[in-house]
Amino acid sequence: MSHQDVLAKVGLSAEELSGGSLSVRSPIDGAHVADVHETDPGEMQAVIDRAQAAFKVWRSVPAPRRGELVRLLGEELRRSKDELGAVVTLEAGKIVSEGLGEVQEMIDICDFAVGLSRQLYGLTIASERPGHRMMESWHPMGPCGVITAFNFPVAVWSWNAALALVCGNPVIWKPSEKTPLTALASMKIMARALDRFGDAPEGLVQCVIGGPAIGEALVASPGVPILSATGSTRMGSAVGPKVLGRWGRPILELGGNNAMIVAPSADLEMTLRAVVFSAVGTAGQRCTSLRRLIVHNSIREELVGKLVKAYAGLPIGDPRAEGTLVGPLIDHDATDRMQAALDAARAEGGKVHGGGMAEGMDGGAYVRPAIVEMPSQTETVRTETFAPILYVMGYDDFDEAMELHNAVPQGLSSCIMTLNLREAEAFVSAAGSDCGIANVNIGPSGAEIGGAFGGEKETGGGRESGSDAWKSYMRRQTNTINFSDALPLAQGVRFDV
Ligand code: NAD
Repeated sequence: MSHQDVLAKVGLSAEELSGGSLSVRSPIDGAHVADVHETDPGEMQAVIDRAQAAFKVWRSVPAPRRGELVRLLGEELRRSKDELGAVVTLEAGKIVSEGLGEVQEMIDICDFAVGLSRQLYGLTIASERPGHRMMESWHPMGPCGVITAFNFPVAVWSWNAALALVCGNPVIWKPSEKTPLTALASMKIMARALDRFGDAPEGLVQCVIGGPAIGEALVASPGVPILSATGSTRMGSAVGPKVLGRWGRPILELGGNNAMIVAPSADLEMTLRAVVFSAVGTAGQRCTSLRRLIVHNSIREELVGKLVKAYAGLPIGDPRAEGTLVGPLIDHDATDRMQAALDAARAEGGKVHGGGMAEGMDGGAYVRPAIVEMPSQTETVRTETFAPILYVMGYDDFDEAMELHNAVPQGLSSCIMTLNLREAEAFVSAAGSDCGIANVNIGPSGAEIGGAFGGEKETGGGRESGSDAWKSYMRRQTNTINFSDALPLAQGVRFDV
């Protein structure tokens, strides 16, 4: 199927795909596929005003009814799964099963949010005063801005949107300027859900197209009380302080530098599979991709040997082709950054296996994933390079491995491969991994939506998706109700007038 056919199947018209100033290329072959219309920065205030007006209506719609809209979105996504997955492949270069998996993640979060729409519980709290009751209520906050990265072009929006909508907040989405088509396609699907829902206020779900300047309008506006931003730490360090500076609530999901500790007792076959999926899946362009392997020196040579062999046989190529496991990087700038990191690692004493351009692939940025044996955890290793590079370091004792593991600025995902109960428990204990996600005997990537997703340190501290992440999208109100005929003060204070 041609690129244009894929786009037509999700209902994107020739008019929507041409005449605009944002040029879109497919990483599959570098072909130019569309010129999308960008939002005029001068229109942003009107967008925010529409969301504010929608908020005044939506906040009073009962939460289970709000959940009905998200249920319909889930239904529409189920119907359009193949078509939207194909656009993810076309625009982000993900292999077919990962493109479909991303849409499945959208469906899963819709299901989760529908249930949640009947569970936005507060507590009842014992009051110290007679004839009084205390409780907690959770209320909607207002428009939620969602700035997303290219590598999860639709799932991250849905994590935010499904929760924000059931929590009573309108959504304004600014997708990555590298992936506007998946966003426009998702808006088509959302429009069908809104149509079926019937009486949602205009401006409840909006999408604005453009680069950082359009994002900044959301970041700067007090009319957007919640700002969820997913992307590089560089972007987060610009966005976070600005949102806080206007007393908004940032939810930051930034870069990772995820590690695996491989202990002497590890099941090596399982480890091998976990490493390969986590390090080269999505061509190393997941925030949770495995980037650092910390291996016990007694098994290091054996594991590296097996990995180098497995890497040599990786099917690299067109992500649409059956059997491909490694598709292209998003663009040639990403290839340059990968090459620069490999050069820097070499200069720091690293021994590089693989790397370089994959042969026989024209147009797209197809690279051979690299394994780099490092003498120590250098500055290059401590930096996130968004490409399939796996740095390998050895260790002799568990404490040393733990030190190395935590000695990076990022804190997203982590794991240990071990059959030793003490090591496994120590890894997830208070003195263990300092990341938001810490796994035992599975890789660091491929999270399920049921858990809260996010990380510490330079990863930004935000939490999205499952568990009680919904609380970030609501304001907590403490209520004290006096049903007595007296007015006692707390803490025994007397103030008789
Ligand atoms: P990026 O930082 O270049 O861009 C991300 C988004 O931020 C884009 O929409 C961009 O237009 C916008 N943006 C950039 N500067 C801005 C500014 N000053 N104000 C407002 N908006 C701005 O990131 P990318 O290259 O698209 O994505 C890769 C990065 O994202 C990696 O670092 C990866 O680890 C991270 N990521 C993190 C998570 C997570 O959940 N922690 C998930 C996916 C990706």
